[in-house]
Amino acid sequence: MSTENPFENSRMQLAKCAAILKLDDGVHEMLRHPMREMHVSLPIRMDDGSIRVFEGFRVQYNDARGPTKGGIRFHPDETIDTVRALAAWMTWKCAVVDIPLGGGKGGVICNPKEMSDGELERLSRKYIQSISQIVGPEKDIPAPDVYTNPKMMAWMMDEFSKISGMNKAGVITGKPLSIGGSLGRGDATARGGLYTIREAAKELGIDLKGAKVAIQGYGNAGYFAAKIATEEYGSTVVAISDSKGGIMNMDGIDPEVAFQHKVDTGSVVGLSNTDPISNEDLLELDVDILIPAALEHVITENNADKIKAKIVAELANGPTTPKADVILHERGVHVIPDFLCNAGGVTVSYFEMVQNFYMYYWSEERVHSRLDRKMTDAYHAVLEASKKYDIDMRTAAYVVAIDRVVVAMSDRGWI
Ligand code: NAD
Repeated sequence: MSTENPFENSRMQLAKCAAILKLDDGVHEMLRHPMREMHVSLPIRMDDGSIRVFEGFRVQYNDARGPTKGGIRFHPDETIDTVRALAAWMTWKCAVVDIPLGGGKGGVICNPKEMSDGELERLSRKYIQSISQIVGPEKDIPAPDVYTNPKMMAWMMDEFSKISGMNKAGVITGKPLSIGGSLGRGDATARGGLYTIREAAKELGIDLKGAKVAIQGYGNAGYFAAKIATEEYGSTVVAISDSKGGIMNMDGIDPEVAFQHKVDTGSVVGLSNTDPISNEDLLELDVDILIPAALEHVITENNADKIKAKIVAELANGPTTPKADVILHERGVHVIPDFLCNAGGVTVSYFEMVQNFYMYYWSEERVHSRLDRKMTDAYHAVLEASKKYDIDMRTAAYVVAIDRVVVAMSDRGWI
């Protein structure tokens, strides 16, 4: 059962895994709470001369495995419980790909679409100033998230460096390349997802060459997934979509041509040699691999029994509802859960930090091969847990992650 409160939902997932892992009640209770959170008021001079005070948060959920890491969201509907849930979720995500980081998240309640560049710069600098005592390359490393971008990360890194009196590139990731960003970050989420799809295809005996793929959403995650699946694995992308609708061609869609069409017209809809298809019907197409790469809650109890794909690879966050999960599992659909499938982004962010520490930058090939190793190992750890406990892949991913956090807490002598 899920509720409207994301933090309560994250606690329900934890409770399910605590039972499987037979966690001590006290340890379970420790994991139910963020270790630390900071609430800040951010007064900003607006362009019209007035002062507005924005509300911001930074939550550090658990740092047993290392400094906390997680994005900063600038959103009008931000709530502390959303930030808490996402910080918990980052803890499990970093643990499942076995990077030496804990989980955190930050947010500011504001509407960036109604703010000028100057106002956003002042707010970005004020936010990092206000939380500067609890962030840093060895404490907590933020990154871009909803409505924040590399430009804002650059302002925040610059402000933190001024406060520190030295260059502190490693305080934040997702920076422009000129000031310590990493090669390979742009397509990292999709590329990481494709590594897990490759491993799942091997497990299920599916040949990716010529395999049929449908992708919902054609933004950063969806477009790169289409491009990599086609160019590097020889798969056939038969359907794609965006917020305006979808298109299909069972003989294949050229990802670059579709991308250009979206740049020119604002949507993939209307591309020549394709037929229109709704976002709902796209999910039910007879394909080998379905990649939700747009919204949450698109696979529900109403359509889960109509999904024909053998693999559902969740590049989007939360595309499958808990009830749909049960149906997919019963029907033998192989789900690669979101926080495993889309962990390529945080993994390359971690590589960015490592390069900042060493002040030595890797080639794109090196980023790819190290990402491959992380994602492949993570996929197999989750697959093994799903077989060992006879549980679905999502629960298995939580079990692997939570177990790793608990081991670190124990090794530190916390429990
Ligand atoms: P994006 O904004 O670049 O693209 C989103 C795409 O979804 C767009 O093509 C948009 O038109 C489409 N879309 C919006 N509403 C839709 C609807 N009703 N039906 C169908 N399509 C719709 O975002 P993104 O970065 O590609 O992220 C997509 C998903 O992947 C999100 O759930 C995000 O949280 C997740 N994700 C992304 C990254 C990353 O590094 N980009 C990392 C982890 C998770």
